[in-house]
Amino acid sequence: MNFDFETDYCIVGAGAAGCVVADRLSESGRDRVLVLEAGPSDWHPYIHIPATFLKLVRDPRFSWYFQMEPEPELKGRAQRAPQGKVLGGGSSINGLAFMRGQAAEYDEWVARGCPGWGYKDVLPYFKRIERYEGGDDAYRGRDGPMRVSGASEVHLLTRSFVAAGMELGFPRNDDFNGSAREGVGVIQNNREGRFRSGAAQTYLVRAKRRPNVQVETHALGRRILFEGKRAIGVEFGRGGKRLRVCVRREVVLSCGAIKSPHMLQLSGVGPAELLAAAGIPVLHALPGVGQDLHDHLYTRIAHRVRGTQSMNERTRGWRLAFELAKYAVTGGGIMANATTSGALFCRSRPELANPDVYVAFTPGSYVQQLQLEKEPGMAISVIQSHPESTGTIRARTADPEDDPAIQPNYLSAEIDRRAVVAGLRVVRKLFAAPSLAKWSSHETRPGPSAITDEDLLDFARSAGTPGLHFCSSCRMGTDERAVVTPDLKVRGLEGLRVIDASIMPGCSSGNTHAPVLMIGEKGAAIMLKERSAA
Ligand SMILES: Cc1cc2nc3c(=O)[nH]c(=O)nc-3n(C[C@H](O)[C@H](O)[C@H](O)COP(=O)(O)OP(=O)(O)OC[C@H]3O[C@@H](n4cnc5c(N)ncnc54)[C@H](O)[C@@H]3O)c2cc1C
Repeated sequence: MNFDFETDYCIVGAGAAGCVVADRLSESGRDRVLVLEAGPSDWHPYIHIPATFLKLVRDPRFSWYFQMEPEPELKGRAQRAPQGKVLGGGSSINGLAFMRGQAAEYDEWVARGCPGWGYKDVLPYFKRIERYEGGDDAYRGRDGPMRVSGASEVHLLTRSFVAAGMELGFPRNDDFNGSAREGVGVIQNNREGRFRSGAAQTYLVRAKRRPNVQVETHALGRRILFEGKRAIGVEFGRGGKRLRVCVRREVVLSCGAIKSPHMLQLSGVGPAELLAAAGIPVLHALPGVGQDLHDHLYTRIAHRVRGTQSMNERTRGWRLAFELAKYAVTGGGIMANATTSGALFCRSRPELANPDVYVAFTPGSYVQQLQLEKEPGMAISVIQSHPESTGTIRARTADPEDDPAIQPNYLSAEIDRRAVVAGLRVVRKLFAAPSLAKWSSHETRPGPSAITDEDLLDFARSAGTPGLHFCSSCRMGTDERAVVTPDLKVRGLEGLRVIDASIMPGCSSGNTHAPVLMIGEKGAAIMLKERSAA
């Protein structure tokens, strides 16, 4: 075989996890690291200004904007799934909410066959990521590469949401990344002053300065090259050319929960029947590849705002000009903040040991997925934290340019349907609490005609949108359906690991960025330990 590049480690995908792995593997200077990223560099200013990520999610230069399959339990609606396609991946176009998930979730990972991934094991890696000034030293990191901050300006409506939660008797939580998740409070962001502090702007920036690191953008990984059952390289496409990388040590797939299983399937690793149907020769039958896909479903109740300005008006016309000027001069204002800013973690049933519902407040409202309305509005989303509905990622053809079929099967599990309805009832109470009710003229979605549990479920089916927290499609574990072992090696193959959201045994509560960065940190540490022992 002829090769165009040679390296020790090749990381396919420079997203949240890929940037961390590239940085940590190259730190010692001992090994060469080559990173392949399908998208461009993170040059666009909208990546760096916190509020403007909404402008990029539909831009095909920076987002995959996948077409998903019709969802049977969502009335057959086929929705879009934006995913970062740029250095930093989702970490460059996401909503900056920084949430670790609950301690009990990681302990549950251990119970599900992932020794070494309990909360006490992963906590040091969470701390390693961040530079945060508040909170408790036992939980928070002080000198990591990524700056985590409180909101630079807490919107009046967000403060009212927190007060409303307390009026309902929920405890105030001043640090969702501290000892406990339960309660109501303000979301922290990965933000450095006025700018996004994402994986590309922190980890990858410093890695790129090293002579042993090479980053290739606009480089679409097409398949992994094998010698027997050992990965020896990667074929990628750029500008109509096919190029090959020879890999001396290991190939790391960090393409995210949609493209990592797709890339394995394109390389002949996956369920044998699926590969045969797509016309891909089987190299290694592995039934779990692309199975067990999870995502959070977001169902938003929205109200028309009166008596104050919501984010909707403040990001239009002359008010936008004012906000931009304020941002330019002071680095503050609405442009310096993410859209979703308040959170409540609660239980849908009192007997549960831990919160299973995540309620997220936005001082603005949407006409459709991540597109703000013109009229003043505010919205509260309900998210079942641990969905039991699972779906699939399936290659349709052998062509790497063809997107896979994406089917999360939202609301296919009864427990998810019940939790969403219970969460929507909590949201109705929050909007009725005095602190929030005073800013509302009326409920716009679903509106007063939705009364019964059936009405609310029907609303979730009609209006629920993908949470974009895709995970578990190359699930870690020790059972027959697991794709990677707890040290993130693809089962039955050599020289190949998956390190990204796809390995998570299930969704974390809250958002997935921080857990994925942790997976990058811990995955790299496992690799370096093996490297030193060799
Ligand atoms: C619009 C949006 C908003 C979100 N908001 C939040 C939030 O506020 N807080 C939060 O915690 N989480 C949020 N998330 C989720 C979070 O960003 C993701 O969970 C996280 O980025 C996943 O990391 P990853 O490394 O698994 O994959 P990604 O970050 O998606 O990275 C995968 C990378 O691989 C590249 N790639 C894919 N296939 C190939 C290939 N074949 N060859 C080369 N490169 C390839 C992609 O272009 C991408 O850069 C959001 C996600 C989106 C899309």
